[in-house]
Amino acid sequence: MTLSQRIIQQTNEYCAHNYHPKDVVIEQASGCIVVDPEGREYYDMLSAYSAHNLGHRHPEVVAAAVEQLGKVTLTSRAFHNTVLGEFCQKLAQLTGKDMILPMNTGAEAVETAIKTARRWGVDVKGVVDGKQQIIVAENNFHGRTVTVVSFSTDPTARRGYGPFTDGFVVVEYGNADALEAAITDNTVAFLVEPIQGEAGIVVPPEGYLRKVREICTRHNILFIADEIQTGFARTGKMFACQHEGVVPDIFTLGKALGGGIMPVSAVAANKDILGVFEPGSHGSTFGGNPLACAVGIKTMEILVRDDYAKQAREKGEYFMDKLREIAKSNPHIIQVRGKGLLVGVVFDIEAQGYVKKLIANGVLAKETHECIIRFAPPIVITYEQIDDACVKIAKALTE
Ligand SMILES: *Cc1c(COP(=O)(O)O)cnc(C)c1O
Repeated sequence: MTLSQRIIQQTNEYCAHNYHPKDVVIEQASGCIVVDPEGREYYDMLSAYSAHNLGHRHPEVVAAAVEQLGKVTLTSRAFHNTVLGEFCQKLAQLTGKDMILPMNTGAEAVETAIKTARRWGVDVKGVVDGKQQIIVAENNFHGRTVTVVSFSTDPTARRGYGPFTDGFVVVEYGNADALEAAITDNTVAFLVEPIQGEAGIVVPPEGYLRKVREICTRHNILFIADEIQTGFARTGKMFACQHEGVVPDIFTLGKALGGGIMPVSAVAANKDILGVFEPGSHGSTFGGNPLACAVGIKTMEILVRDDYAKQAREKGEYFMDKLREIAKSNPHIIQVRGKGLLVGVVFDIEAQGYVKKLIANGVLAKETHECIIRFAPPIVITYEQIDDACVKIAKALTE
């Protein structure tokens, strides 16, 4: 038995089976390359679901983490720390918002946005507490907590987890008329992904986000953009809403904000919205911890300084062109879609077999739903690496 096989067996025995990982063990990583215990190298085309926009172990982020490890790592919010203010200021500037509420995981940021919108509904809009409604989109993915799966439309994510949280209405994604038709006096917010990641890199029709913005403003409801997967340059803009020139009322952010090192999430909004929280009304022991803040600050610095949005845009176009060329040789590929370096290759048959072949050829990717393979390499991938990876991808998908 190889070391990889032994590790997989041990993990399967002692770790709950809430995932079904591919048969690859990652022991080391750098940039867009990961290495298994047997020394095999792979291109990482999943990037931990877009948490690795800067690539694995970006040296400056690692250095910032190490420096902070030498000072203080956790204070709780019972006291101030030296980096939380700077982290919030930087993220506020980046999002164009007044304030930040720091959390850890994406699902916590979404929960925080839901609490924010519900309270805003009561305190500002005047909805009776308990009557607030939030509209969400079909095939959404916003995380795994009970409240968040309460409005999932994926049966696998919900089975056996009831009773669910009330107050959510589901409408078709990409259909602004459906949103408007669902609004009532008790509606406080519309929560939506600017591009649906887990649903299979679903890009809504051009103009959808602009219409959403206009409808939300006209009906006095909050537009909550879940940019946890699309944010921080992944799609070729710092935030995916910028493709349509719109600004949501609330951003939920996570994944890449942690620089690929640790969970860092946040909600960004203006004072008239985030001001609904008073001391004691919400919180997190680890939210805003100094280590997370130091990593987040450095990550944002690098994203802006090295114009990762432009990199993702240009490399994404280059990569997608190559994938479209490859697709011509496989009649089962019906579409190559996405924005920036968030790309989905859609098959008319199950994609699982192709994923196996990709891995055998040295490219890590995973199907989302049965028929779609997501390609989302770290944005630091070079053109030479894209060329090399595409030779392997072509072999896997067409031979
Ligand atoms: C990953 C993701 C989440 C959940 O983030 P976790 O850190 O896994 O809790 C929420 N929304 C979107 C759009 C995501 O892609």
